[in-house]
Amino acid sequence: MKIAGLLGAGKASFVGYENTRKAAGAPLLQGGFDVIIRIAAFIAALLAVNGKSLLYSEFVNLSQRQNGFRINSRLLAVIAMALACVGAGRTDSAERDLRRVASFNGFGPPSVSGNYISLHSSFAEMVFEEKSRKMLYNGSTIWMNDSLARSGSRWFLSRQDAEETVAPLLRPREALKGYGSMVVMLDPGHGGRDNGARSRRNILEKKATLDITRRVASRLRASGVTVRLTRSGDTYISLAERCRQAARQKADLFVSIHLNSAADRSVSGIETFIMAAPGCTGTQTRRIDDNVYNGNMNGPANMLLGFYLHSGLVACTRAEDRGLKRSRFQVLRDVTCPAVLVECGFLSNNKEETRMLDPRYRDAVAEGISRGILSYLSRVRSANPQPAPEKRPN
Ligand SMILES: [Zn+2]
Repeated sequence: MKIAGLLGAGKASFVGYENTRKAAGAPLLQGGFDVIIRIAAFIAALLAVNGKSLLYSEFVNLSQRQNGFRINSRLLAVIAMALACVGAGRTDSAERDLRRVASFNGFGPPSVSGNYISLHSSFAEMVFEEKSRKMLYNGSTIWMNDSLARSGSRWFLSRQDAEETVAPLLRPREALKGYGSMVVMLDPGHGGRDNGARSRRNILEKKATLDITRRVASRLRASGVTVRLTRSGDTYISLAERCRQAARQKADLFVSIHLNSAADRSVSGIETFIMAAPGCTGTQTRRIDDNVYNGNMNGPANMLLGFYLHSGLVACTRAEDRGLKRSRFQVLRDVTCPAVLVECGFLSNNKEETRMLDPRYRDAVAEGISRGILSYLSRVRSANPQPAPEKRPN
């Protein structure tokens, strides 16, 4: 592929790319300008309040006494407000400006080749494509909420992508503050009267997802993780009930496991979905939805869970990387903890169907999913260190 060629193949990874000292704890953009805006906004607020306000009268009295003339405080308020608005706009666009994002996060200046803009640092490589949602982070494909815009010689991320796609990747520690790492809820797709997809050689999606889920569960349990399943047998469970189970079990993360199917039998590969941001379309739909759902409360954590899981799965299976995508599937929308839905391969594709028939391949799929989950959990733990146990007096 063209973009992959720019970076060299096989760079997908799920550990070891966290930014180190330079960006740790730093906002996406720091600057004195931000302080000026805050001061301007504060003055505007002070002056714009009702004339009877104590601060307002004090200010006018003071100006009258000291300068001998009455300051036109309304004019001052308008000027300060205008300054605050212009400033806020400039700060917002600066935070989305790829050059500024690069320089404040330890990347060199963007290098441009045709429509592709690449950023390099000692810990990460990002490749963007102009007017496209597609980006590569350390070789792993991510579909952003919105496309990369260009204005003159500058490129701009959408605000959602600056805050919920790029920032978490560069500073996972900040994104994962306050999240738990105790209980993993695995959700084998379909079940009972709902078979899901069916392959030519009669693999039922509901059976294959349960098999893969069991393999993931045993790996996670062997690593000391508490695992809950939405179903452990061939039973029908509604999507709403799956979401309720996650809440009842106090799950810290939710992974729904599926297999794909397409009318075009040549399509193959792995795609992983996380919740689309409000006001944006999903990767595969044109419908814009402005509502904020439960799934939108965990945007940055969803991003990291999705990234570790997707890149882990692609690395372990060497299947085609169709990317980390956005959607509003009910389980992503309504679950209250970070959530991801993974499509582990296409049952409609002859080659992938053959691979799925082999238990060793289903083991590789399970290994990829569990490595991704373990990577996420270890990042959560390092973002939330437990306080050292108190010393007991002897
Ligand atoms: Zn399915």
